Amino acid sequence: MISAPPKFVVNTLDESTIEKIELSFAASEDMEFREICCPYCSTPLATVTLNMKEGIFIAKCQKCKAVTPLNLAYFYRSRTYRRPDAFLLDINQTTK
Ligand SMILES: [Zn+2]
Repeated sequence: MISAPPKFVVNTLDESTIEKIELSFAASEDMEFREICCPYCSTPLATVTLNMKEGIFIAKCQKCKAVTPLNLAYFYRSRTYRRPDAFLLDINQTTK
């Protein structure tokens, strides 16, 4: 996961907020993440952990401006499993 600090400092943070940010960052260091993309234009909307498979979140797409409630169970796709390519040659098949 790539994290970045804010580009603009709007107000100063208090100690408890800074501690929460640092604890969250430390807890997320060895986690795996997946991206939730806009169903209309495939723009990345949010990054969630791999085991976050239920719940609904509402996101506004930065590109097409759609505001859509997205059920994480419906928009779950494992990174480890990929559908095999339709034109993939069978391993046992001999090519001439
Ligand atoms: Zn979109």
